[in-house]
Amino acid sequence: MRLRNVKGSREEIAANEYSLKEVEKNKGHWAELFADGKPIHIEIGMGKGKFLMKLAELHPEIHYIGIEKYSSVLVRALEKMEENPLPNIHFIRMDAENIVDVFEKGEVDKIYLNFSDPWPKDRHAKRRLTSKQFLARYETILKKGGIIEFKTDNRPLFDFSVEEVKEAGWVTELCTYDLHNSEYVEGNVMTEYEEKFVAKGNPICKLVFHPVY
Ligand code: SAM
Repeated sequence: MRLRNVKGSREEIAANEYSLKEVEKNKGHWAELFADGKPIHIEIGMGKGKFLMKLAELHPEIHYIGIEKYSSVLVRALEKMEENPLPNIHFIRMDAENIVDVFEKGEVDKIYLNFSDPWPKDRHAKRRLTSKQFLARYETILKKGGIIEFKTDNRPLFDFSVEEVKEAGWVTELCTYDLHNSEYVEGNVMTEYEEKFVAKGNPICKLVFHPVY
């Protein structure tokens, strides 16, 4: 994603009600904080949040938390929320590397990874959001029975991810190399990047997986 420094974005995020602050204090207390027993689904690397906002509209019975590393990107999601406020969505500006500082064991029911940055150089493999280093973090925060859904049009990243899941001994529930021409497309909610890549004719790969429970 091309990043542009958006002037004042840090200040805007700090003042916005949808962006959660000092989130490490919520670790182990998310259920108390929401106080309604609804499951928590997170998207890591949510960009401008289009996908998560659509899901939040469709599923008021779920709490959605979008995680984005860059203020300049997150601020766009916050602006969209002003136009269409939703009670069941929040955002955190953070590097997902630190996700285990924010969620306690078993606090998250589902993780979405959509069109994650590919980090094509081998020496950067551990930065990929589907690397074994990240899988270990997800295993810590996922509830028993929790799952991860990953979509990308980037075939090398997808092949890498399939291997990492296999090597970790995790369970693959679904693996398709052409989501939009498969039976699994029903109910699919497109992300911003997905719309761009589908328009270009790129096949979209999808992997659904979870640790062994
Ligand atoms: N998921 C969106 C979509 O499909 O339209 C955006 C995809 S964009 C290519 C990847 C996003 O992930 C970027 O906004 C980037 O800043 C964010 N990102 C990458 N690494 C991250 C990390 N370690 N923690 C949080 N966000 C990250």
